[in-house]
Amino acid sequence: MKILANDGISQQAIDTLSKVGFEVITTKVAQNQLADFINKEQVEILLVRSATQAKKDLIEACPSLKLIGRGGVGLDNIDVKYAQEKGIKVINTPNASSYSVAELTFAHLFNGVRFLYDANRNMPLEGDTHFAQLKKNYAKGQELRGKTLGIIGLGRIGKAVATIALGLGMKVIAHDPHHEKATITLSFFDGRSLDFDIYTIKKEELLKQADFITLHVPAQKDAIIGEHEFQQMKDGVGIINLSRGGVVDEDALLHALEHGKVAFAGLDVYRNEPTPSIKILMHPHISLSPHIGASTIEAQERIGDELAEQIIKEFKKN
Ligand code: NAD
Repeated sequence: MKILANDGISQQAIDTLSKVGFEVITTKVAQNQLADFINKEQVEILLVRSATQAKKDLIEACPSLKLIGRGGVGLDNIDVKYAQEKGIKVINTPNASSYSVAELTFAHLFNGVRFLYDANRNMPLEGDTHFAQLKKNYAKGQELRGKTLGIIGLGRIGKAVATIALGLGMKVIAHDPHHEKATITLSFFDGRSLDFDIYTIKKEELLKQADFITLHVPAQKDAIIGEHEFQQMKDGVGIINLSRGGVVDEDALLHALEHGKVAFAGLDVYRNEPTPSIKILMHPHISLSPHIGASTIEAQERIGDELAEQIIKEFKKN
């Protein structure tokens, strides 16, 4: 059986699948040549990440397809309903990258409380001429320990964020209209573990109490953090968004940063990806990354492992 992993897959997954008789092709085929390639090679399993589109036109043109697998969470690039109507199974790997996204959340938070976003811009320019001044500029950092982290969206990633926050000694509060409570398990290196129950609260309460707010919700129709929400927050709050661009109103964020309501923001996702607003990119108080939340070696390996496991289970190759 032929598998085309068009956006790449870990070597470990290739080895696992090859061992049980699958042929894994990792040639990157251009979108406009994909249907021809699949038909010529009689590919039965198509694996994609976010780049390759598996929409109705492709599915219709490729009768050999039996399964489409997405390495990652969102299925925006796959016409799931149409695939299923055609009897094609669609799988994804929703758990594989939660910890990678959670760790990047803290990279932005630590970055924010010690002004690293600004220091990394200014040290190359003035580090050798104005060292003492820069030292003074960044002297009033804060610790995360003891502070309150507000998590909006207590799903897979929100819970992974909560484990790290609890481990750091933060107070964790959360808002999620679909969950009343979540049990967070902290697992330690020596096999011990501790369970914490977190009961969700109203968004207004969270906005009032949190020193830092981080968003881990799915794409929304409208922003869930806008001018009205910023007004309810503590002065000097830090905002992190690694969920989806548009969940935080970027104009309202810029306004809140200008007026000191928000001390810093950390963003991995943007309203106009892949061409984020220049005002956001140039803002001195925003820590920036280009949508790399899930992009770690470990997450890629877990994605490959999860896909391989599901494919083997589906086609009963042992
Ligand atoms: P999930 O489905 O496990 O959790 C999302 C949670 O948000 C759910 O518990 C849901 O009840 C809650 N929710 C929905 N609407 C809400 C609202 N209006 N207010 C508060 N809570 C709300 O999803 P997940 O795996 O934790 O992923 C969360 C987000 O992270 C998704 O948007 C996903 O696209 C994004 N993500 C980003 C990256 C990255 O590279 N930056 C990587 C993976 C996932």
